[in-house]
Amino acid sequence: MSMTMSGVASGVDAFMEQISLKNPGQNEFLQAVYEVAEHVVPFIEENPIYKQHKILERIIEPDRVIVFRVTWQDDNGEVQINRGFRVQFNNAIGPYKGGLRFHPSVSMDTFKFLGFEQVFKNSLTTLPMGAAKGGSDFDPKGKSDTEVMRFCQAFMTELIRHIGKDTDVPAGDIGVGAREISYLFGQHKRLTNRFTGVLTGKSIEYGGSLIRKEATGYGCVYFVENMLNHANNSVEGKTCVVSGSGNVAQYTTEKILQLGGKVVTLSDSAGFIHDPEGVTQEKLEWVVDLKTNRRGRIKEYADEFNCDYFEGQRPWSVPCDLAFPSATQNELQVEDAEALVKNGCIAVGEGANMPSTPDAIHVFRDNKVLFGPGKAANAGGVAISGLEMSQNSMRLSWDREELEKRLRTIMSRIHEQCLEYSDENGFNNYVKGANIAGFKKVADAMISFGVM
Ligand code: NAP
Repeated sequence: MSMTMSGVASGVDAFMEQISLKNPGQNEFLQAVYEVAEHVVPFIEENPIYKQHKILERIIEPDRVIVFRVTWQDDNGEVQINRGFRVQFNNAIGPYKGGLRFHPSVSMDTFKFLGFEQVFKNSLTTLPMGAAKGGSDFDPKGKSDTEVMRFCQAFMTELIRHIGKDTDVPAGDIGVGAREISYLFGQHKRLTNRFTGVLTGKSIEYGGSLIRKEATGYGCVYFVENMLNHANNSVEGKTCVVSGSGNVAQYTTEKILQLGGKVVTLSDSAGFIHDPEGVTQEKLEWVVDLKTNRRGRIKEYADEFNCDYFEGQRPWSVPCDLAFPSATQNELQVEDAEALVKNGCIAVGEGANMPSTPDAIHVFRDNKVLFGPGKAANAGGVAISGLEMSQNSMRLSWDREELEKRLRTIMSRIHEQCLEYSDENGFNNYVKGANIAGFKKVADAMISFGVM
């Protein structure tokens, strides 16, 4: 028997009330749980086995959280203290897996929300990966390479007790790119005297996978292409607004260009550029160099290519067909969603994790905008990380063509899984589809293990 609409709402509210009492002040985590509960609570009502085993109550509680001190010396010899985190959320379907974020804004709340999202995302990839997330309040911005190296070595010296190729395999995220992964891997190798696939996102020369750095952005565009194809449309010829200018934004832009779309914005935490002529491959390579090697600001793009720069603003008021939030959480709010809808946006692909607030998502749903939630749309990165683990175990490397084909197939499978549970009066609600499909696989595994 299905619940009435008000029954659903009160079921979700009652659940959220309990969870809020247990996790006071953890607003991002509560937001991530709410987004899932909204769809999973009614699903559980219709499938009482999950209720009987209290799977929802169990799945929102991390297996363990680890907090530690990281002490290191800066270039002036001064002692610096940061805080390290690893939230090992759920390993029902494989070893813990998820990125490390180095950003001054992070707290336990951040890693609980990211770890929770990861449970559903990793489940959707169809690969055997559990979920974790971690990092530090260390800010790599403005630090010298040797300071970043000393920090990474100190961070790994503690993290090493908790990770391993069959236990927990971290990767990159905001502030953790190829440079940081290399320092972390080097320290792990030195301390263990073992060369194992304990991290993903490694450089090609020491066990990394081709396509890994492109995978999240490429995968997100494939997911949007899948949604559009399903509605007899495509990315070709579409004007796209992209936020961010880091790893995800860069390769989102590249794949949009390859599929014949046009990207007119990029941003960073200080503002956004609007290039009505479009970001070309040549301009994009300039951005990659700016952000990866010179570690500069996106404002410099406007000076270099003579276009407008909007200090302190986000790009959502720029008219577009497709939007790709690819910077950070809660960067797309209700008024931004309303502006996108008003300007004719037909689809959104979340490259970032939880970039849209729940109210913004409701605006998209109410206006029948195709909306690919991060846990589905940005799962390409962790999927290729999963394939990096497979290649490391088999001690071989697949070529680019093979990996890109696998990435496309995985994104199509994720899209199909979402479709299976997405129907809402004839409209495909991909948030609902992703949450239920992601939940079901982990829930079934948890039930099979008994009470633990
Ligand atoms: P990144 O290379 O470090 O780039 C992050 C981008 O977001 C930068 O342009 C940064 O600007 C901007 N940004 C960060 N914090 C911000 C804030 N508080 N306000 C406004 N802009 C902010 O990181 P990334 O790997 O591209 O990750 C971007 C998003 O994708 C994150 O949500 C991440 O969790 C998600 N994601 C990443 C992967 C992956 O494989 N890398 C996979 C799945 C999901 P500044 O340079 O000014 O800080």
